[in-house]
Amino acid sequence: MADSAGRADGTGHGPEAAERRDLAVRAAVEQGLVGGSDAAPPLVCLLDTAGIRDSAAALTAAFAAAAAPGTPVLHAFAVKAAPLVPVLRLLSDAGLGCEVASPGELALARAAGVPAARTVLDSPAKTVAELREALALGIAVNADNRQELERLDALVAAGPPGPPASPIGVRINPQTGAGAIDALSTATATSKFGIALRDQGAREWLVRAYLDRPWLTRLHTHSGSQGVPLALIAEGVREVHALAEEINAAAGRRQVDTLDIGGGLPVNFASDEHTPTYAEYVAALRAAVPGLFDGSYGLVTEFGRSLLAKHGLVVSRVEYTKTTGGRPIALTHAGVQLATRTVYAPAAWPLRILPYDAKGAPKTGPPVAQDIAGPACFAGDLLATARELPELAPGDLIAVPDTGAYFFTAHYGYNSLPRPPIHGFTTTASGKVHFTLTRRPQTLSEIATEAGATTPDPLL
Ligand SMILES: *Cc1c(COP(=O)(O)O)cnc(C)c1O
Repeated sequence: MADSAGRADGTGHGPEAAERRDLAVRAAVEQGLVGGSDAAPPLVCLLDTAGIRDSAAALTAAFAAAAAPGTPVLHAFAVKAAPLVPVLRLLSDAGLGCEVASPGELALARAAGVPAARTVLDSPAKTVAELREALALGIAVNADNRQELERLDALVAAGPPGPPASPIGVRINPQTGAGAIDALSTATATSKFGIALRDQGAREWLVRAYLDRPWLTRLHTHSGSQGVPLALIAEGVREVHALAEEINAAAGRRQVDTLDIGGGLPVNFASDEHTPTYAEYVAALRAAVPGLFDGSYGLVTEFGRSLLAKHGLVVSRVEYTKTTGGRPIALTHAGVQLATRTVYAPAAWPLRILPYDAKGAPKTGPPVAQDIAGPACFAGDLLATARELPELAPGDLIAVPDTGAYFFTAHYGYNSLPRPPIHGFTTTASGKVHFTLTRRPQTLSEIATEAGATTPDPLL
């Protein structure tokens, strides 16, 4: 059960993390990282380092428990979920790799020191130059479509003799159907990703494509995302496993030696409970694809949201409050620049709002329906509408949990609002909180420079 502020009293990981969160908000105020008055910044983003490590360990343990001894398993973090070099370093230190989908993301993975053998390149629009670089580095590549495969043919033929250093696979769209959020459903009949397995002639074409290219050794699918049920994700993996078996039977050898099953584990945004868990996902996979873990195939995963979301927190000052049309509104600094999806698609991306007083202590009081507004100049910039919370006042703080993936790490530059600082934090047994600057705030002069301040005249 969660109280009116959304704090869970469930068992397991949640309350511990909730305790750390309360400690971090108070310490952030005490240490001047954020505050209720102009003496401190109005907005800060926090990452719970221990929470990220816990999630990485839970992922690793869930697959290790299921896989036959000796099965190679690579967990490649989807960089787009939190494109921050210190986060990639932390996950790399925990044994994970990186899934990258652009030259920028590859640059981050390399800056974090993630080895080529633990890097996977996906992306539906790779240029020839990107493919060439990936093959030169020896990082794994998953081709999205037939034309990309032809580009790879030419690059492999022009490369050194023998098989390419990079493991190469093809992304499959199993066409198993949509989840609850259309824009995030990758396995629909008409999704833009991969080769559609159920289209006429596709299966035969794929088997032939593998037989013709002995260097194609992987199959890839990423059929999950927020809003997709576990059983549906597992069905996509089952389709790809069956295709691998078919290719290997036709080849008369185990040509496909690795299955990349993507990421896409949904996250619970309603409470502190971590659900579904990695162990539940692994159980769903075992049920749907009994052969997946028997050691016949190495495994690659590409989780993003489920590794980071629960460990990010936005803390903002309430700058003003007002009542309009009978509805109280709290005007804060946390809006569309940090929670773009929530603001533009509020029904799909609801976020909890946790109230704190100016000292950073949890705020209690009778619930009053309030709108929580951001700073941007358009009417829809609201993080929550008619949310029941203790009545907020100027100088109070709100915290927005579950924002560690695709929220403040995917800044949106509307209104020239700057990227706020991100601090990682750790807590000691005695409740002391230690912050480390993880991304420094964007300065106003940087914003001006990026907007042409140093070369103002080209349009005159
Ligand atoms: C976005 C993406 C992921 C990560 O998805 P999550 O829902 O964040 O786990 C993994 N693989 C591919 C190919 C993706 O595009």
